[in-house]
Amino acid sequence: MTQYDYDLFVIGGGSGGVRASRMAAQTGARVALAEEWRMGGTCVIRGCIPKKLLVYASQFMENIMDSRGFGWDFGDCKFDWPTLIANKDREIARLEGLYTANVEKSGVTIFQDRAVFEDPHTLLLLNSGKRVTADKILVATGNRPTREMGTAHLVSGGELCITSDEAFHLKELPPRIVIAGGGYIAVEFAHIFHGLGSEVTLVCRRDQPLFGFDQDMRDALSDSMKQRGIRVLPHSQFTLVEKRGDCLHVETDKGAAIDCDQIMLAIGRHPNTDALHVDKAGIALGKRGEIEVDAYSRTSAPNIYAVGDVTDRVQLTPVAIHEAMCFVETAFKNNPTRPDHRHVPSAVFTTPELAGVGLTEAKALLAGHSIDVYKSTFKPLLHTLGGRPVRTYMKLIVDAKTDKVLGCHIFGDHAAEVIQIVAVCLKMGATKADFDGTIALHPTAAEELVTMRTKSYSRTPADLQV
Ligand code: NDP
Repeated sequence: MTQYDYDLFVIGGGSGGVRASRMAAQTGARVALAEEWRMGGTCVIRGCIPKKLLVYASQFMENIMDSRGFGWDFGDCKFDWPTLIANKDREIARLEGLYTANVEKSGVTIFQDRAVFEDPHTLLLLNSGKRVTADKILVATGNRPTREMGTAHLVSGGELCITSDEAFHLKELPPRIVIAGGGYIAVEFAHIFHGLGSEVTLVCRRDQPLFGFDQDMRDALSDSMKQRGIRVLPHSQFTLVEKRGDCLHVETDKGAAIDCDQIMLAIGRHPNTDALHVDKAGIALGKRGEIEVDAYSRTSAPNIYAVGDVTDRVQLTPVAIHEAMCFVETAFKNNPTRPDHRHVPSAVFTTPELAGVGLTEAKALLAGHSIDVYKSTFKPLLHTLGGRPVRTYMKLIVDAKTDKVLGCHIFGDHAAEVIQIVAVCLKMGATKADFDGTIALHPTAAEELVTMRTKSYSRTPADLQV
Protein backbone atom coordinates (compact mmCIF):
# COMPACT_ATOMS: atom_id res chain seq x y z
CA MET A 1 0.00 0.00 0.00
CA THR A 2 1.30 3.49 -0.87
CA GLN A 3 2.52 5.45 2.14
CA TYR A 4 1.43 9.07 2.05
CA ASP A 5 2.77 11.85 4.30
CA TYR A 6 -0.77 12.45 5.59
CA ASP A 7 -4.13 10.71 5.66
CA LEU A 8 -5.79 14.07 4.97
CA PHE A 9 -4.45 17.35 3.63
CA VAL A 10 -6.83 20.30 3.86
CA ILE A 11 -6.32 23.34 1.64
CA GLY A 12 -7.78 26.42 3.31
CA GLY A 13 -8.03 27.47 6.96
CA GLY A 14 -11.55 28.90 6.90
CA SER A 15 -14.71 27.63 8.56
CA GLY A 16 -14.97 24.42 6.49
CA GLY A 17 -11.27 23.54 6.44
CA VAL A 18 -10.72 24.15 10.14
CA ARG A 19 -13.72 22.06 11.21
CA ALA A 20 -12.86 19.20 8.85
CA SER A 21 -9.21 19.08 9.90
CA ARG A 22 -10.03 19.05 13.62
CA MET A 23 -12.77 16.42 13.35
CA ALA A 24 -10.66 14.19 11.09
CA ALA A 25 -7.67 14.45 13.47
CA GLN A 26 -9.94 13.39 16.33
CA THR A 27 -10.48 10.06 14.53
CA GLY A 28 -6.72 9.42 14.76
CA ALA A 29 -5.99 10.44 11.18
CA ARG A 30 -2.70 12.21 10.36
CA VAL A 31 -3.87 15.62 9.17
CA ALA A 32 -2.20 18.75 7.79
CA LEU A 33 -3.66 22.04 6.61
CA ALA A 34 -2.29 24.80 4.40
CA GLU A 35 -3.49 28.39 4.80
CA GLU A 36 -1.66 31.04 2.84
CA TRP A 37 -2.90 34.03 4.80
CA ARG A 38 -4.71 34.15 8.15
CA MET A 39 -6.44 31.27 9.93
CA GLY A 40 -10.19 31.78 10.16
CA GLY A 41 -10.94 32.50 6.51
CA THR A 42 -13.53 34.90 5.19
CA CYS A 43 -15.97 34.51 8.09
CA VAL A 44 -13.52 35.43 10.83
CA ILE A 45 -11.05 37.68 9.05
CA ARG A 46 -13.04 39.67 6.47
CA GLY A 47 -16.65 38.56 6.60
CA CYS A 48 -19.34 37.64 9.12
CA ILE A 49 -17.54 38.52 12.35
CA PRO A 50 -15.95 41.90 11.52
CA LYS A 51 -19.12 42.76 9.57
CA LYS A 52 -21.33 42.14 12.60
CA LEU A 53 -19.03 44.28 14.76
CA LEU A 54 -19.45 47.09 12.23
CA VAL A 55 -23.21 46.53 12.22
CA TYR A 56 -23.28 46.98 16.02
CA ALA A 57 -21.21 50.14 15.67
CA SER A 58 -23.63 51.51 13.10
CA GLN A 59 -26.67 51.10 15.37
CA PHE A 60 -25.58 53.13 18.41
CA MET A 61 -26.56 56.51 17.03
CA GLU A 62 -30.15 55.57 16.40
CA ASN A 63 -30.37 53.77 19.73
CA ILE A 64 -29.21 57.00 21.34
CA MET A 65 -31.83 58.92 19.37
CA ASP A 66 -34.49 56.42 20.48
CA SER A 67 -33.39 56.76 24.09
CA ARG A 68 -34.52 60.39 24.16
CA GLY A 69 -38.14 59.25 24.18
CA PHE A 70 -37.26 57.28 27.31
CA GLY A 71 -35.86 60.34 29.06
CA TRP A 72 -32.16 60.03 28.27
CA ASP A 73 -29.92 62.77 26.94
CA PHE A 74 -26.35 61.88 26.07
CA GLY A 75 -25.44 65.35 24.85
CA ASP A 76 -23.15 65.59 21.83
CA CYS A 77 -22.02 62.20 20.56
CA LYS A 78 -18.99 61.65 18.37
CA PHE A 79 -17.93 58.63 16.35
CA ASP A 80 -14.31 57.76 15.59
CA TRP A 81 -13.76 55.31 12.71
CA PRO A 82 -10.04 54.59 13.45
CA THR A 83 -10.96 53.52 17.00
CA LEU A 84 -13.61 51.13 15.69
CA ILE A 85 -11.24 49.63 13.11
CA ALA A 86 -8.38 49.24 15.58
CA ASN A 87 -10.62 47.56 18.17
CA LYS A 88 -12.16 45.33 15.51
CA ASP A 89 -8.68 44.33 14.29
CA ARG A 90 -7.63 43.45 17.83
CA GLU A 91 -10.65 41.18 18.28
CA ILE A 92 -10.08 39.52 14.89
CA ALA A 93 -6.43 38.86 15.79
CA ARG A 94 -7.58 37.27 19.07
CA LEU A 95 -10.03 35.01 17.23
CA GLU A 96 -7.41 34.09 14.66
CA GLY A 97 -5.11 33.03 17.51
CA LEU A 98 -7.87 30.88 18.99
CA TYR A 99 -8.52 29.20 15.65
CA THR A 100 -4.82 28.40 15.20
CA ALA A 101 -4.48 27.11 18.77
CA ASN A 102 -7.54 24.87 18.50
CA VAL A 103 -6.37 23.35 15.22
CA GLU A 104 -2.89 22.70 16.61
CA LYS A 105 -4.35 21.28 19.83
CA SER A 106 -6.19 18.67 17.73
CA GLY A 107 -2.83 17.49 16.38
CA VAL A 108 -3.16 19.05 12.93
CA THR A 109 0.04 20.37 11.31
CA ILE A 110 -0.44 23.86 9.90
CA PHE A 111 1.58 25.11 6.94
CA GLN A 112 1.39 28.85 6.36
CA ASP A 113 1.73 28.38 2.66
CA ARG A 114 -0.11 28.18 -0.63
CA ALA A 115 -0.78 24.63 -1.82
CA VAL A 116 -1.25 23.74 -5.48
CA PHE A 117 -1.93 20.35 -7.04
CA GLU A 118 0.75 18.39 -8.85
CA ASP A 119 -1.34 15.21 -9.11
CA PRO A 120 -4.35 13.77 -7.23
CA HIS A 121 -2.22 12.89 -4.18
CA THR A 122 0.61 15.44 -4.36
CA LEU A 123 0.62 19.11 -3.44
CA LEU A 124 3.40 21.64 -3.87
CA LEU A 125 3.70 24.27 -1.13
CA LEU A 126 4.73 27.33 -3.10
CA ASN A 127 6.53 29.41 -0.46
CA SER A 128 8.65 26.62 0.97
CA GLY A 129 8.94 24.58 -2.22
CA LYS A 130 8.05 21.50 -0.14
CA ARG A 131 6.07 18.62 -1.69
CA VAL A 132 3.53 16.77 0.44
CA THR A 133 1.45 13.73 -0.34
CA ALA A 134 -1.89 12.73 1.14
CA ASP A 135 -4.34 9.88 0.78
CA LYS A 136 -7.31 12.24 0.82
CA ILE A 137 -7.38 15.95 0.05
CA LEU A 138 -10.08 18.44 1.00
CA VAL A 139 -10.35 21.70 -0.92
CA ALA A 140 -11.86 24.42 1.27
CA THR A 141 -10.39 27.52 -0.35
CA GLY A 142 -13.56 29.64 -0.22
CA ASN A 143 -14.22 32.53 -2.54
CA ARG A 144 -13.35 36.18 -2.96
CA PRO A 145 -15.21 39.34 -4.01
CA THR A 146 -15.81 39.67 -7.73
CA ARG A 147 -14.08 42.75 -9.12
CA GLU A 148 -15.17 42.50 -12.73
CA MET A 149 -18.54 44.04 -13.49
CA GLY A 150 -18.79 41.71 -16.48
CA THR A 151 -21.14 44.04 -18.29
CA ALA A 152 -20.86 45.71 -21.63
CA HIS A 153 -21.46 49.01 -19.84
CA LEU A 154 -18.34 49.39 -17.73
CA VAL A 155 -15.06 48.72 -19.44
CA SER A 156 -12.64 50.38 -17.03
CA GLY A 157 -12.44 51.98 -13.62
CA GLY A 158 -12.87 48.79 -11.59
CA GLU A 159 -9.41 49.34 -10.08
CA LEU A 160 -10.69 52.54 -8.40
CA CYS A 161 -13.33 50.59 -6.50
CA ILE A 162 -13.07 48.78 -3.19
CA THR A 163 -14.77 45.53 -2.19
CA SER A 164 -15.81 44.32 1.25
CA ASP A 165 -12.20 43.15 1.77
CA GLU A 166 -10.93 46.74 1.73
CA ALA A 167 -14.01 48.23 3.40
CA PHE A 168 -12.85 46.68 6.68
CA HIS A 169 -9.54 48.56 6.51
CA LEU A 170 -10.37 52.03 5.21
CA LYS A 171 -8.28 54.75 6.85
CA GLU A 172 -11.33 56.95 7.27
CA LEU A 173 -15.09 56.77 7.03
CA PRO A 174 -16.04 57.93 3.52
CA PRO A 175 -18.41 60.91 3.71
CA ARG A 176 -20.06 59.68 0.48
CA ILE A 177 -20.05 56.13 -0.83
CA VAL A 178 -21.65 54.51 -3.87
CA ILE A 179 -22.21 50.75 -3.64
CA ALA A 180 -22.88 48.51 -6.65
CA GLY A 181 -24.94 45.37 -6.10
CA GLY A 182 -28.17 44.31 -4.50
CA GLY A 183 -27.21 41.23 -2.50
CA TYR A 184 -26.34 40.54 1.13
CA ILE A 185 -23.07 42.45 1.17
CA ALA A 186 -24.37 45.50 -0.71
CA VAL A 187 -27.34 46.09 1.59
CA GLU A 188 -25.46 45.25 4.78
CA PHE A 189 -22.67 47.72 3.99
CA ALA A 190 -25.19 50.31 2.81
CA HIS A 191 -26.71 50.19 6.32
CA ILE A 192 -23.34 50.11 8.07
CA PHE A 193 -22.01 53.18 6.27
CA HIS A 194 -25.31 55.01 6.55
CA GLY A 195 -25.59 54.27 10.27
CA LEU A 196 -22.08 55.61 10.82
CA GLY A 197 -22.88 58.84 9.01
CA SER A 198 -21.94 58.36 5.34
CA GLU A 199 -24.19 59.45 2.50
CA VAL A 200 -24.98 56.18 0.73
CA THR A 201 -26.19 55.43 -2.81
CA LEU A 202 -26.91 51.84 -3.80
CA VAL A 203 -26.82 51.10 -7.53
CA CYS A 204 -28.82 47.93 -8.11
CA ARG A 205 -29.52 46.27 -11.46
CA ARG A 206 -32.91 44.85 -10.35
CA ASP A 207 -36.06 46.73 -9.38
CA GLN A 208 -35.18 46.21 -5.69
CA PRO A 209 -32.31 44.72 -3.66
CA LEU A 210 -32.29 41.09 -2.50
CA PHE A 211 -33.61 39.32 -5.57
CA GLY A 212 -34.85 35.85 -4.62
CA PHE A 213 -35.91 36.80 -1.08
CA ASP A 214 -39.60 36.86 -0.15
CA GLN A 215 -41.23 39.76 -2.00
CA ASP A 216 -42.97 41.18 1.09
CA MET A 217 -39.64 41.32 2.89
CA ARG A 218 -37.99 43.00 -0.10
CA ASP A 219 -40.79 45.59 -0.13
CA ALA A 220 -40.38 46.17 3.61
CA LEU A 221 -36.60 46.58 3.25
CA SER A 222 -36.96 48.95 0.30
CA ASP A 223 -39.44 51.14 2.23
CA SER A 224 -37.18 51.13 5.26
CA MET A 225 -34.09 52.11 3.24
CA LYS A 226 -36.00 54.96 1.64
CA GLN A 227 -37.25 56.15 5.01
CA ARG A 228 -33.71 56.09 6.42
CA GLY A 229 -32.32 58.09 3.53
CA ILE A 230 -30.33 55.36 1.82
CA ARG A 231 -30.69 56.24 -1.85
CA VAL A 232 -31.38 53.22 -4.08
CA LEU A 233 -31.03 53.55 -7.85
CA PRO A 234 -32.94 50.58 -9.32
CA HIS A 235 -32.50 49.05 -12.78
CA SER A 236 -29.12 50.75 -12.94
CA GLN A 237 -25.56 49.81 -13.69
CA PHE A 238 -22.31 51.74 -13.79
CA THR A 239 -21.24 53.10 -17.18
CA LEU A 240 -18.35 55.22 -15.94
CA VAL A 241 -16.06 55.18 -12.93
CA GLU A 242 -13.24 57.72 -12.85
CA LYS A 243 -11.14 59.91 -10.61
CA ARG A 244 -12.03 63.60 -10.74
CA GLY A 245 -9.74 65.78 -8.66
CA ASP A 246 -9.99 64.70 -5.04
CA CYS A 247 -13.07 62.57 -5.52
CA LEU A 248 -14.41 59.70 -7.54
CA HIS A 249 -17.14 60.02 -10.11
CA VAL A 250 -19.72 57.41 -11.13
CA GLU A 251 -22.25 57.48 -13.93
CA THR A 252 -25.02 54.97 -14.60
CA ASP A 253 -26.90 53.81 -17.68
CA LYS A 254 -29.99 55.61 -16.32
CA GLY A 255 -28.26 58.99 -16.44
CA ALA A 256 -27.24 59.39 -12.78
CA ALA A 257 -23.93 61.18 -12.21
CA ILE A 258 -22.54 61.02 -8.68
CA ASP A 259 -19.40 62.39 -7.04
CA CYS A 260 -18.26 60.36 -4.05
CA ASP A 261 -15.29 59.38 -1.88
CA GLN A 262 -15.43 55.59 -2.21
CA ILE A 263 -17.05 53.17 -4.62
CA MET A 264 -17.68 49.65 -3.41
CA LEU A 265 -18.39 46.63 -5.59
CA ALA A 266 -20.59 44.04 -3.89
CA ILE A 267 -21.57 42.10 -6.99
CA GLY A 268 -21.05 38.53 -5.87
CA ARG A 269 -18.09 36.33 -5.05
CA HIS A 270 -15.84 34.15 -7.19
CA PRO A 271 -14.66 30.65 -6.14
CA ASN A 272 -10.93 30.44 -5.31
CA THR A 273 -9.90 27.83 -7.85
CA ASP A 274 -7.95 29.90 -10.37
CA ALA A 275 -4.39 29.08 -9.30
CA LEU A 276 -4.92 25.66 -7.69
CA HIS A 277 -3.97 23.68 -10.81
CA VAL A 278 -7.06 21.52 -10.32
CA ASP A 279 -6.61 20.12 -13.84
CA LYS A 280 -3.48 18.26 -12.63
CA ALA A 281 -5.65 16.44 -10.10
CA GLY A 282 -8.53 15.73 -12.47
CA ILE A 283 -10.99 17.98 -10.60
CA ALA A 284 -13.84 19.26 -12.77
CA LEU A 285 -14.99 22.85 -12.42
CA GLY A 286 -18.44 24.28 -13.11
CA LYS A 287 -19.29 27.31 -15.23
CA ARG A 288 -18.45 29.86 -12.56
CA GLY A 289 -15.15 28.20 -11.68
CA GLU A 290 -16.66 26.38 -8.70
CA ILE A 291 -15.59 22.83 -7.83
CA GLU A 292 -18.27 20.37 -8.85
CA VAL A 293 -19.09 17.84 -6.15
CA ASP A 294 -21.53 14.98 -5.69
CA ALA A 295 -24.03 14.66 -2.84
CA TYR A 296 -21.18 13.63 -0.49
CA SER A 297 -18.93 16.59 -1.43
CA ARG A 298 -16.68 14.31 -3.51
CA THR A 299 -15.09 15.90 -6.61
CA SER A 300 -14.55 14.16 -9.94
CA ALA A 301 -11.22 12.93 -8.47
CA PRO A 302 -12.27 10.07 -6.15
CA ASN A 303 -9.85 10.88 -3.29
CA ILE A 304 -10.49 14.64 -3.35
CA TYR A 305 -13.43 16.37 -1.67
CA ALA A 306 -14.49 20.03 -1.49
CA VAL A 307 -16.67 21.93 0.98
CA GLY A 308 -17.84 25.48 1.53
CA ASP A 309 -17.97 28.50 -0.76
CA VAL A 310 -15.54 27.03 -3.31
CA THR A 311 -18.34 24.61 -4.27
CA ASP A 312 -20.87 27.47 -4.63
CA ARG A 313 -23.74 25.50 -3.10
CA VAL A 314 -24.97 27.69 -0.23
CA GLN A 315 -22.43 30.42 0.60
CA LEU A 316 -22.84 30.46 4.38
CA THR A 317 -20.38 29.62 7.17
CA PRO A 318 -22.65 27.18 9.05
CA VAL A 319 -23.29 25.32 5.79
CA ALA A 320 -19.53 24.96 5.18
CA ILE A 321 -19.16 23.61 8.73
CA HIS A 322 -22.04 21.17 8.22
CA GLU A 323 -20.53 19.99 4.91
CA ALA A 324 -17.16 19.55 6.67
CA MET A 325 -18.72 17.38 9.41
CA CYS A 326 -20.53 15.27 6.80
CA PHE A 327 -17.25 14.89 4.89
CA VAL A 328 -15.50 13.53 8.00
CA GLU A 329 -18.38 11.10 8.66
CA THR A 330 -18.15 9.92 5.05
CA ALA A 331 -14.40 9.78 4.55
CA PHE A 332 -13.12 8.92 8.05
CA LYS A 333 -15.92 7.30 10.01
CA ASN A 334 -17.25 4.87 7.42
CA ASN A 335 -20.65 6.55 7.69
CA PRO A 336 -21.56 8.09 4.30
CA THR A 337 -23.47 11.26 5.14
CA ARG A 338 -24.94 13.77 2.71
CA PRO A 339 -25.07 17.40 3.76
CA ASP A 340 -28.70 18.50 4.14
CA HIS A 341 -29.21 21.85 2.44
CA ARG A 342 -32.89 22.13 3.34
CA HIS A 343 -34.13 24.48 6.05
CA VAL A 344 -30.99 26.60 6.05
CA PRO A 345 -31.84 29.77 7.97
CA SER A 346 -30.24 32.98 6.76
CA ALA A 347 -30.19 36.59 7.81
CA VAL A 348 -29.22 39.81 6.17
CA PHE A 349 -27.80 42.08 8.86
CA THR A 350 -29.45 45.26 7.76
CA THR A 351 -31.01 47.53 10.38
CA PRO A 352 -33.43 46.11 11.26
CA GLU A 353 -32.55 42.56 10.23
CA LEU A 354 -34.16 40.55 7.47
CA ALA A 355 -34.17 36.81 8.15
CA GLY A 356 -35.91 33.76 6.84
CA VAL A 357 -36.04 29.99 6.72
CA GLY A 358 -37.78 27.64 4.30
CA LEU A 359 -39.60 28.62 1.14
CA THR A 360 -40.56 32.10 0.03
CA GLU A 361 -44.13 32.56 -1.18
CA ALA A 362 -43.00 32.43 -4.82
CA LYS A 363 -40.80 29.36 -4.32
CA ALA A 364 -43.58 27.50 -2.47
CA LEU A 365 -45.92 28.06 -5.42
CA LEU A 366 -43.23 27.12 -7.93
CA ALA A 367 -42.66 23.89 -5.97
CA GLY A 368 -46.34 23.05 -6.51
CA HIS A 369 -47.73 23.85 -3.04
CA SER A 370 -51.14 25.36 -2.50
CA ILE A 371 -50.53 27.75 0.36
CA ASP A 372 -52.16 29.73 3.11
CA VAL A 373 -50.29 32.90 3.97
CA TYR A 374 -50.33 34.59 7.38
CA LYS A 375 -48.91 38.08 7.65
CA SER A 376 -48.51 40.55 10.45
CA THR A 377 -47.08 44.05 10.63
CA PHE A 378 -46.81 46.14 13.75
CA LYS A 379 -44.91 48.94 15.45
CA PRO A 380 -42.48 47.37 17.92
CA LEU A 381 -42.99 48.44 21.54
CA LEU A 382 -39.53 50.09 21.66
CA HIS A 383 -40.54 52.51 18.96
CA THR A 384 -43.76 53.63 20.65
CA LEU A 385 -41.60 55.86 22.87
CA GLY A 386 -38.55 55.85 20.60
CA GLY A 387 -40.59 57.77 18.10
CA ARG A 388 -39.20 56.53 14.79
CA PRO A 389 -41.77 55.17 12.29
CA VAL A 390 -40.26 51.67 12.35
CA ARG A 391 -42.38 48.60 11.64
CA THR A 392 -41.82 44.86 11.95
CA TYR A 393 -43.08 42.43 9.27
CA MET A 394 -43.68 38.73 9.81
CA LYS A 395 -44.92 36.10 7.43
CA LEU A 396 -45.72 32.41 7.64
CA ILE A 397 -46.26 30.31 4.52
CA VAL A 398 -48.28 27.18 5.24
CA ASP A 399 -49.03 24.18 3.01
CA ALA A 400 -52.82 24.26 2.63
CA LYS A 401 -53.09 20.46 2.41
CA THR A 402 -50.71 19.28 5.15
CA ASP A 403 -50.77 22.38 7.41
CA LYS A 404 -46.94 22.22 7.48
CA VAL A 405 -45.16 25.53 7.82
CA LEU A 406 -43.09 25.84 4.65
CA GLY A 407 -41.46 29.18 5.31
CA CYS A 408 -41.10 31.94 7.84
CA HIS A 409 -39.75 35.41 7.05
CA ILE A 410 -39.20 38.38 9.32
CA PHE A 411 -38.05 41.95 8.79
CA GLY A 412 -37.54 43.53 12.18
CA ASP A 413 -35.32 43.84 15.24
CA HIS A 414 -33.67 40.55 16.27
CA ALA A 415 -35.17 38.73 13.28
CA ALA A 416 -32.06 36.56 12.99
CA GLU A 417 -32.32 35.39 16.61
CA VAL A 418 -35.97 34.43 16.15
CA ILE A 419 -35.45 32.67 12.81
CA GLN A 420 -32.68 30.47 14.23
CA ILE A 421 -35.24 28.82 16.52
CA VAL A 422 -38.01 28.76 13.91
CA ALA A 423 -35.53 26.74 11.80
CA VAL A 424 -35.65 23.99 14.45
CA CYS A 425 -39.46 23.93 14.19
CA LEU A 426 -39.38 23.68 10.39
CA LYS A 427 -36.76 20.94 10.50
CA MET A 428 -39.05 18.99 12.84
CA GLY A 429 -41.93 19.44 10.39
CA ALA A 430 -43.99 21.82 12.55
CA THR A 431 -47.53 22.56 11.40
CA LYS A 432 -49.45 25.78 11.75
CA ALA A 433 -51.46 23.99 14.44
CA ASP A 434 -48.19 23.47 16.38
CA PHE A 435 -47.49 27.19 16.16
CA ASP A 436 -51.09 27.98 17.22
CA GLY A 437 -50.90 25.51 20.12
CA THR A 438 -47.75 27.14 21.51
CA ILE A 439 -48.29 29.60 24.34
CA ALA A 440 -47.07 33.08 23.53
CA LEU A 441 -44.24 34.75 25.42
CA HIS A 442 -45.47 38.23 26.19
CA PRO A 443 -44.49 40.98 25.51
CA THR A 444 -42.20 40.05 22.64
CA ALA A 445 -42.24 40.50 18.89
CA ALA A 446 -41.80 36.75 18.35
CA GLU A 447 -45.13 36.00 20.06
CA GLU A 448 -46.77 37.26 16.89
CA LEU A 449 -45.66 34.03 15.18
CA VAL A 450 -47.87 31.94 17.48
CA THR A 451 -50.83 34.33 17.53
CA MET A 452 -51.44 34.82 13.79
CA ARG A 453 -54.93 33.29 13.72
CA THR A 454 -56.40 34.94 10.63
CA LYS A 455 -55.21 33.84 7.24
CA SER A 456 -54.22 36.78 5.04
CA TYR A 457 -54.90 34.91 1.78
CA SER A 458 -54.56 31.57 -0.03
CA ARG A 459 -52.85 30.89 -3.35
CA THR A 460 -52.36 27.90 -5.63
CA PRO A 461 -49.64 27.21 -8.21
CA ALA A 462 -52.21 28.09 -10.89
CA ASP A 463 -52.04 31.71 -9.66
CA LEU A 464 -48.51 31.90 -11.06
CA GLN A 465 -49.86 31.65 -14.60
CA VAL A 466 -52.21 34.59 -14.12
P1 NDP B 1 -25.00 38.03 -3.73
O1 NDP B 1 -24.93 36.87 -4.61
O2 NDP B 1 -25.83 37.99 -2.51
O3 NDP B 1 -25.44 39.31 -4.54
C1 NDP B 1 -24.75 39.74 -5.65
C2 NDP B 1 -25.44 40.99 -6.13
O4 NDP B 1 -24.66 41.61 -7.14
C3 NDP B 1 -26.79 40.71 -6.72
O5 NDP B 1 -27.66 41.74 -6.35
C4 NDP B 1 -26.50 40.74 -8.21
O6 NDP B 1 -27.61 41.14 -8.97
C5 NDP B 1 -25.47 41.82 -8.28
N1 NDP B 1 -24.60 41.73 -9.45
C6 NDP B 1 -23.96 40.65 -9.92
N2 NDP B 1 -23.23 40.98 -11.00
C7 NDP B 1 -23.42 42.28 -11.21
C8 NDP B 1 -22.96 43.21 -12.18
N3 NDP B 1 -22.14 42.83 -13.14
N4 NDP B 1 -23.37 44.47 -12.10
C9 NDP B 1 -24.21 44.87 -11.11
N5 NDP B 1 -24.68 44.05 -10.16
C10 NDP B 1 -24.30 42.77 -10.21
O7 NDP B 1 -23.48 38.36 -3.42
P2 NDP B 1 -22.77 39.13 -2.25
O8 NDP B 1 -21.46 39.51 -2.82
O9 NDP B 1 -23.62 40.17 -1.65
O10 NDP B 1 -22.56 37.98 -1.17
C11 NDP B 1 -21.99 36.71 -1.55
C12 NDP B 1 -22.55 35.62 -0.70
O11 NDP B 1 -21.99 35.69 0.59
C13 NDP B 1 -24.05 35.70 -0.50
O12 NDP B 1 -24.73 35.03 -1.50
C14 NDP B 1 -24.24 35.05 0.84
O13 NDP B 1 -24.49 33.68 0.67
C15 NDP B 1 -22.92 35.27 1.55
N6 NDP B 1 -23.09 36.32 2.58
C16 NDP B 1 -23.90 36.06 3.62
C17 NDP B 1 -24.11 37.00 4.59
C18 NDP B 1 -25.02 36.71 5.72
O14 NDP B 1 -25.29 35.54 5.97
N7 NDP B 1 -25.52 37.71 6.42
C19 NDP B 1 -23.46 38.31 4.53
C20 NDP B 1 -22.65 38.48 3.38
C21 NDP B 1 -22.48 37.52 2.44
P3 NDP B 1 -28.73 40.09 -9.43
O15 NDP B 1 -29.66 39.91 -8.28
O16 NDP B 1 -29.34 40.79 -10.58
O17 NDP B 1 -28.01 38.83 -9.83
